[in-house]
Amino acid sequence: MQKIQNYINGELVAPQSNQYIDNINPATGKVYCYIPDSDERDVELAVSAASKAFPKWSAMSSEKRSGLLIKLSELISQHIERFAIAESIDNGKPVWLARQVDIPRAVANFHFYATAALHLSTETHSMGDTALNYTLRTPVGIAGCISPWNLPLYLFTWKIAPALASGNCVVAKPSEITPMTAFLLSELAIEAGIPPGVLNIVHGYGHKVGKAIVSHPKIPAISFTGGTKTGEDIARIAAPMFKKLSLELGGKNPNIIFADCDFEKALLTTVRSSFSNQGEICLCGSRIFIERSIYDKFKNAFVEEIKKIKVGDPLQDESWLGAIVSKPHLEKVLYYIDLAKQEGGKILCGGNQISLMGENSSGYFLEPTVIEGLSYNCRTNQEEIFGPVVTIQPFDEIDEVLMYANSTTYGLAATVWTENLTRAHTVAARLHSGIVWVNCWLLRDLRTPFGGVKSSGVGREGGFEALRFFTEEKNVCIRLA
Ligand code: NDP
Repeated sequence: MQKIQNYINGELVAPQSNQYIDNINPATGKVYCYIPDSDERDVELAVSAASKAFPKWSAMSSEKRSGLLIKLSELISQHIERFAIAESIDNGKPVWLARQVDIPRAVANFHFYATAALHLSTETHSMGDTALNYTLRTPVGIAGCISPWNLPLYLFTWKIAPALASGNCVVAKPSEITPMTAFLLSELAIEAGIPPGVLNIVHGYGHKVGKAIVSHPKIPAISFTGGTKTGEDIARIAAPMFKKLSLELGGKNPNIIFADCDFEKALLTTVRSSFSNQGEICLCGSRIFIERSIYDKFKNAFVEEIKKIKVGDPLQDESWLGAIVSKPHLEKVLYYIDLAKQEGGKILCGGNQISLMGENSSGYFLEPTVIEGLSYNCRTNQEEIFGPVVTIQPFDEIDEVLMYANSTTYGLAATVWTENLTRAHTVAARLHSGIVWVNCWLLRDLRTPFGGVKSSGVGREGGFEALRFFTEEKNVCIRLA
């Protein structure tokens, strides 16, 4: 069976422990490869390689760095099918989704930041005849990048691309649940000619490898995407060390549908925004609020659409939903469905685990689930479920729905459906959230700031924000007269 290796100092190497962790295919429930059970010794080797590589990489011209990252982006592009199949097997997501979204986005992340870094400029502040200030912007040194399992290569590259493009070396850890495409990336990094030590990928558990990265004194910046609880643990270690921190955390996103919406568009997009990637996207809208006058019409049409969804083998193109990423996660989602019932919720469709045939008979499949009849402030409507489960409820007034929408501790993304321009602007302005989509969902421009407020995170990724995060500013003041 295949053994994934760490990528340290330009080489694919075994972990110091020589121990491996089972990697399970969620669509079959069976082990299909092994991943390194690395620890702080591997992180130490990675940091040492990164420290050695940093002076040359940071001094390299932006154009040359950009060229290497574009080469890497092109290599991924040439292997889209291989990466898509690997992502689908590792994560359980439909292969068509990985082919259309995840892997092309990883290509775009490298391409975007390879070119964006060429346009990053700094400011000067003139004090007339007295003095001139200019700002130098330099890479932080070694960046620690830790990413989750839901969009494995997509989110992994979203961090390491800006870190590398702005002249840093990287020590990165993908989720131990979905390590395969990061491993394939390390093979391509070698082929692209990324110098040894510039990018290091250490596989293993969060509490070992992740913690060792976060607490390492030579890593001054941590970029993390994952759960809010893990974000808290990381902040607790990193804050007293005065590290730069970018935290992209959980969400419980509202989807607000007004009666004057374009009904068909709102309906079909809401199917996607609720259940794409088995609902395992931090931006999925999990609380749907529908203006009362169209509540029954929307509810019935929505449930009809959901019933048409085919859950199946992720490697088959006709499967619209694949497997839940892991057994513990499936159990977590089932727990919340049960909790919703206890809280008085009525299951309109779904709610059950699915048994498929043949190879997939032990896989982790779940019906897309719609629940109504819950109060806005019950646990089901306040806590992140992160699966194919949405709640729906009616509202009458703007103030009322804004109160519902803003009632959680999260504030990542929100969706608003209305043809009334004034209402769209008013509601967007009053939502407590880092991202608002009006009459669309997941329409992404990589230049825009990306991130959440409240317990959904600290800082912004995207565009120049990420390049600023991975660099330090120094003001130089020159006396003229
Ligand atoms: P986790 O927080 O469990 O894990 C994220 C990463 O952190 C994994 O690589 C994990 O390793 C690692 N990790 C775990 N514990 C520690 C630790 N103590 N120190 C350092 N690293 C650690 O999140 P999930 O992987 O379960 O991802 C789902 C979560 O991610 C959801 O809450 C979702 O909302 C959020 N998310 C947020 C996004 C955003 O942009 N705001 C985007 C996508 C997801 P290991 O796998 O070994 O546990």
